[in-house]
Amino acid sequence: MPRPDTNPATARVSELAWHALAADEARSQLQAPAPLSAAEAGDRLRRHGANALPEARVRGPWLRLVQQLRNFLIYVLATAAVITASLGHWVDASVILAVVVIQTLVGFIQEGRAEQALSAIRHMLAPKARVLRADGQHLVDAATLVPGDTVLLEPGDRVPADLRLEKAHQLKINEAILTGESEAADKTIVVVNADAVLGDQSNMAFSGTMVATGTGRGVVVRTGQDTEIGRISGLLAHTLSLRTPLLEQMDRFARRLSAIVILAGVAIFFGGLLFSGLPFRELFMAVVGLTVAAIPEGLPAILTITLAIGVRQMARRNAVVRRMPVIETLGAVSVICSDKTGTLTRNEMMVTRAMVSGGKLEVTGEGYGFDGAVTNARGAPARSPGLDELARAAALCNDAQVVQDSSGVRVSGDPMEAALLVFARKVGFDVDDSARDWPRRDEIPFDTENRFMATLNHDHHGHNVIYLKGAPERVLDMCSGQVVDSGVVAELDQPFWHAAITDMASEGFRVLALARKPVARGAGDLAVEDLAQGVELLGLVGLLDPPRQEAIQAIAECRAAGIEVKMITGDHALTAGAIARKLGLANTREVLTGSDLDRLDAGQLRERVAEVDVFARTSPEHKLRLVEALQTRGAVVAMTGDGVNDAPALKRAEVGIAMGVKGSEAAREAASVVLLDDNFASIAAAVREGRTVYANLKKGIAFMLPINGGESISLITALLLGLTLPISALQILWVNMVSSVVLAMTLAFEPTEPDVMQRPPRARNESLMRGFVLWRVALVSLLFLAGIFAAWYWAIHHYGNDQTARTLAVNTLVAMEVFYLFAVRYLDSASLTLRGVLGTPVVLLAVAAVLILQLMFTYLPWFNQTFDTVPLSLGMLGFAGATGVLLLIVLEAETALRRRLFSPLRG
Ligand code: ADP
Ligand code: MG
Repeated sequence: MPRPDTNPATARVSELAWHALAADEARSQLQAPAPLSAAEAGDRLRRHGANALPEARVRGPWLRLVQQLRNFLIYVLATAAVITASLGHWVDASVILAVVVIQTLVGFIQEGRAEQALSAIRHMLAPKARVLRADGQHLVDAATLVPGDTVLLEPGDRVPADLRLEKAHQLKINEAILTGESEAADKTIVVVNADAVLGDQSNMAFSGTMVATGTGRGVVVRTGQDTEIGRISGLLAHTLSLRTPLLEQMDRFARRLSAIVILAGVAIFFGGLLFSGLPFRELFMAVVGLTVAAIPEGLPAILTITLAIGVRQMARRNAVVRRMPVIETLGAVSVICSDKTGTLTRNEMMVTRAMVSGGKLEVTGEGYGFDGAVTNARGAPARSPGLDELARAAALCNDAQVVQDSSGVRVSGDPMEAALLVFARKVGFDVDDSARDWPRRDEIPFDTENRFMATLNHDHHGHNVIYLKGAPERVLDMCSGQVVDSGVVAELDQPFWHAAITDMASEGFRVLALARKPVARGAGDLAVEDLAQGVELLGLVGLLDPPRQEAIQAIAECRAAGIEVKMITGDHALTAGAIARKLGLANTREVLTGSDLDRLDAGQLRERVAEVDVFARTSPEHKLRLVEALQTRGAVVAMTGDGVNDAPALKRAEVGIAMGVKGSEAAREAASVVLLDDNFASIAAAVREGRTVYANLKKGIAFMLPINGGESISLITALLLGLTLPISALQILWVNMVSSVVLAMTLAFEPTEPDVMQRPPRARNESLMRGFVLWRVALVSLLFLAGIFAAWYWAIHHYGNDQTARTLAVNTLVAMEVFYLFAVRYLDSASLTLRGVLGTPVVLLAVAAVLILQLMFTYLPWFNQTFDTVPLSLGMLGFAGATGVLLLIVLEAETALRRRLFSPLRG
């Protein structure tokens, strides 16, 4: 592959020993003393090329074509063609060859479509990177990074390019893919010896490695193929193939069936030669016919395309499938465990309430807009040294950015922190210059375990202050004093604050406490121990995060579909309960907290988890326990997650769902589904789609198998009884390759049945090939058999010749297929509804096509010669049609009876 960059100067730069340079030296080498502007980045992107590795080559069309030919049926047909040709039966041989060609082409085209659907999806999951540019922080496609860019790292990020680190806070990176070392490596920013090996270059972060803990910042030194990973592998291997348990089950089934058919064929052939006295050619063609009749050759293609269409449909609803088998599991989900913030709620936060020692304050304004004021209980503007200090803490202990320009407000970073910035502005704190006036020396990043974040800032007079914010109980625990409105420090009034927290949380506010601790001059770094004493509480803020309207509907839909919805959040129990009520969860009276969970053993948890729907103040390990407890109850669990620590629970759940917007790369890689919009409603949509796909797979199987069944039983019956074959081998090829495939294809496009979300989920390990489907296959096979022979005898009786009888038998079979298609589309409900009869446009189109094909088959001279058919009278066509109608009536009666006898069968 040609390198876009042949400039010797930059080529040399990419080979520098970056780890041996100080961070600012590295920057000057890269001519990027400060974050790049968008224009400069664009310019560099043109010079250096995209930060991407070439993709592993997908199978080219030729390879796909050749693989089509490696198919058992093709072997059988090819052998048959060769033998028939050598016997001098040119017409037969060429029909068989034509069938080989058609079969290959159909498979080829369908696979191509399936692959297209998948590759479109691959690109939806392109990796992202958090980059600092001259105009602030952005989330960009990792492919657009250029040397000199400034990248921010958080736990769970995949490092997007090779970086020289210039900030590292407790940063540990797992470099197993490069070094094989499974323990995460500690990262620093100090210069390392020039001859250090990769594993010792502790001031570098390498593309493709995974941030385990801590945060960092680095300057991009190498991109794309110049990175270490690019040099080693040079390829990005992500294969996504449509292998699912069901397809494999069908494959095994087909292989076993083929073996049996071959054995039976050989036995019939020799038995026939010895005992029946039939001529060699006739016997041979009968055996070929039997083989073709028995093997469901079109089925794998139908199932593949059904899955591919399902995958595409889910992607349209913002649920991208990462592991194919999940598409079958999705339809069986019985419990959905969802995060609250951002998934069930909108994650567009706003501070509307604050609490300082002097009392309750209201905050006005809209969204992230800067207009608004802070007023006290009397409605007067609130202004006090204590409130100013609260605002300063809110602005400094903060990593978000809010920029307002002519095009509106742009928020980057955590929406909650952005809301705090807006709040600080409304109080009057100068947010824009805060980084200059109050530079940050060190920080303790937020993590879901500790539930707080702290920063160490200093001003130009050398004052050092630690600011912290976090879950209120947690922060209150650390405080010994409080800052009153006048700015003086007083003793902490525990009861007052606890009452305030309870008050705000029960109203559904997300409550955050803010505190500070002045420290001695010169202190340079910050550790959790520094917060052991002397922390002074500044106040509380209450954030509103309204529920998503769609989520409320989706929850109702899930409950109607027999799916339990549980909310798992790190938020306060009372807040969680209040939101749960707004969302319409089933049980909102009880909330279990993380510490409640810690007190339960596995057995007790198993009991409680059935009743409780809201879990608050949980840590990621609790998610894993909850999944396991639910699974011991036989549930099929879908679990959402976004952080690194959610990965085990995501892997453990039957359906792990990661957030595409706020989720970490680690969570995405552990998940089997990624939500592009983080929205709970998309989960419900995916489940619905999963149920549809499963139903369509079932319909495809229930449609195809009886056709093969009916045909082969007819042939075997004829052979055993020494009768003439009611349908010839070539005619069977025609039916299977033309009519059946055209009709069955429509099932892949079958829309969701209207009541699909009104039934309980199917049982966890319900096998498709059991129970109802098996019964249907057997019943319909026999009905087909009856129809074929009825047509045959009726025609022989009235017209007395084989050709007419066979032509009628084929037409009757196809007519029954057409009517059966309508029956199979509604396995569990009546088909003779208006919607059923009119069908979807695809179905009508297919039926019209089959009708025309059958007319050609019956009336065109060329077809008559090739397939040994004769034109039929109108009466005979009537017979074929009537048989089809009769089949539909029988099946309708069967459905009605079954529904009466058994409680509604599960779909
Ligand atoms: P959720 O399930 O709502 O996403 P999290 O685990 O993100 O909960 O957060 C749990 C609690 O930690 C929050 O209720 C809040 O009190 C606190 N918290 C969340 N984000 C931050 C942050 N950036 N800084 C400080 N505290 C935070
Ligand atoms: Mg969160």
